[in-house]
Amino acid sequence: MTRILNATHDQQLQSWVSSANEAGCDFPIQNLPHGVFRRLGKNEAFRGGVAIGDQILDLAAVVSKNILPPAVQASAEAAAKASLNDFMALPTAQRSDLRAALSTLLATGSAQQHATAACLVSQSEVEYALPARIENFSDFYSSLSHATNVGALFRPDNPILPNYRWLPVGYHGRTSSIRVSGVDVRRPVGQLKDPARDIPDFAPCKRLDYEVELGMLVGQGNELGTAIDIKETDNHLFGICLLNDWSARDIQAWEYQPLGPFLAKSFMSSLSPWVVTMEALEPYRTGFARPAGEPEPLPHLWCPELAERGSIDIRIQMQLQTQRMRDAGEAPVVISTSRFTDAYWAMAQLLAHQASNGTNLCPGDLLGSGTLSGPEPESRACLLEMTEGGKKPLQLPNGEQRGFLEDGDTVIMTAYCEREGHARIGFGECRTTVLPARTV
Ligand code: MN
Repeated sequence: MTRILNATHDQQLQSWVSSANEAGCDFPIQNLPHGVFRRLGKNEAFRGGVAIGDQILDLAAVVSKNILPPAVQASAEAAAKASLNDFMALPTAQRSDLRAALSTLLATGSAQQHATAACLVSQSEVEYALPARIENFSDFYSSLSHATNVGALFRPDNPILPNYRWLPVGYHGRTSSIRVSGVDVRRPVGQLKDPARDIPDFAPCKRLDYEVELGMLVGQGNELGTAIDIKETDNHLFGICLLNDWSARDIQAWEYQPLGPFLAKSFMSSLSPWVVTMEALEPYRTGFARPAGEPEPLPHLWCPELAERGSIDIRIQMQLQTQRMRDAGEAPVVISTSRFTDAYWAMAQLLAHQASNGTNLCPGDLLGSGTLSGPEPESRACLLEMTEGGKKPLQLPNGEQRGFLEDGDTVIMTAYCEREGHARIGFGECRTTVLPARTV
């Protein structure tokens, strides 16, 4: 297994920010995810930072203190902006040099500990913005288990269409309604068609659902009219966020044929604030393989490196807390666990496929993995699958049931990577509460 590791991945590395060394912390010094934040109630500008323990290293403050080696100062300035697009556009090696310098600043024994400590802001005091100006969002369908389960509900006689095994099926999503974790989602209103009636209603969605996905953010883009060679995809991916791709299943069922999802998806998508970089994810790379008996991908969607390092062992959890649970002081409950390694299509294939027609991908573009369901019942990564279209409601410990989400429900995605001999790193959370629909 080729893993391109360096001193920043060393499991023994500790930080003088003591919370970063605590077991189970999402943001040890081996992680260093990038995000955009500002302190609450201070009316100040958003700027870039890096999470460390329960703190944020304010990169705008680091830049102004001149405590970084001159060679990485320009990269730090790009990463300190109110959106990370310029930083994402830098060559991988330049971003990597900044990571090494930040790791040195934050490591136990740092010569700059005193000056760096003055650049820390507590995560409890901030609000986040989206990490990038996302100009394009495409959402894929890379889990065969999800495609099979959902296909069986929408088309019982024909769940998997012939193209599925040959290309990563996707569609263009909407960017204006992407929101960062913590922003509530308003239940959408739309056309709903009861099969027993001849005409549709226009009413609040009754089948509101989440989708557990990972969001890949593009680093360097490509020129219009060119493609991205699948062997080069590592150089075009910046990092990974948690993505909840909200879905109105009743609107979807009526509208989706023949042109695919539209208003059932565009009302909102939620993204976690911290982007875990591809470099931080390097130790958890793992081989990518299709199950036996599946066709070999066409040459532009395959290279031997995928078999070696095409997937990443990311474990993702979804938790639910209803209004009643919150009122009673009851903690959220885990309702599903997914593994990124269960995907039928690899990240590199999504990227190479999307650029294969000559489309220009841009820094900060968001590619959704699609709902990351695995073969086990507990890995069904949306309620549509878990409850079989609402027929088998989820039983919650307090006696409540859920076929789909109700107003006041909060869903919380988290994820982590761990591997023997390496630090455990996490993604933070993507948390959203459902608000009632507007009055129709
Ligand atoms: Mn989706």
